[in-house]
Amino acid sequence: MIIFGTRGYLYQLAILTLVCGHCGNPSAHTLRKRVTKFTLFFVPLFPVSTSYATQCTFCGAEQRATKEQAEQLQAQAAGGHTGPMYGQQPQQQPYQS
Ligand SMILES: [Zn+2]
Repeated sequence: MIIFGTRGYLYQLAILTLVCGHCGNPSAHTLRKRVTKFTLFFVPLFPVSTSYATQCTFCGAEQRATKEQAEQLQAQAAGGHTGPMYGQQPQQQPYQS
């Protein structure tokens, strides 16, 4: 007798501050990856489907995201600032002779 089925796994990839499309609040959103795996004798073998979603922690609204969007959001969360850095440039003093 062969026992097989599927099992869902939920991974939290990142937490980002985004403006929610549902409630309009700039609140923390969790970026989640849901993987459904094929199991044989309760041993997960290979993923059948993978989907991504962001969920607003303020109102709980979930929005589906594509793989590309998820990767972009994850990079954003990991990298912090993506724009140019406005900092103090080290002052170079020319030598006076
Ligand atoms: Zn919301």
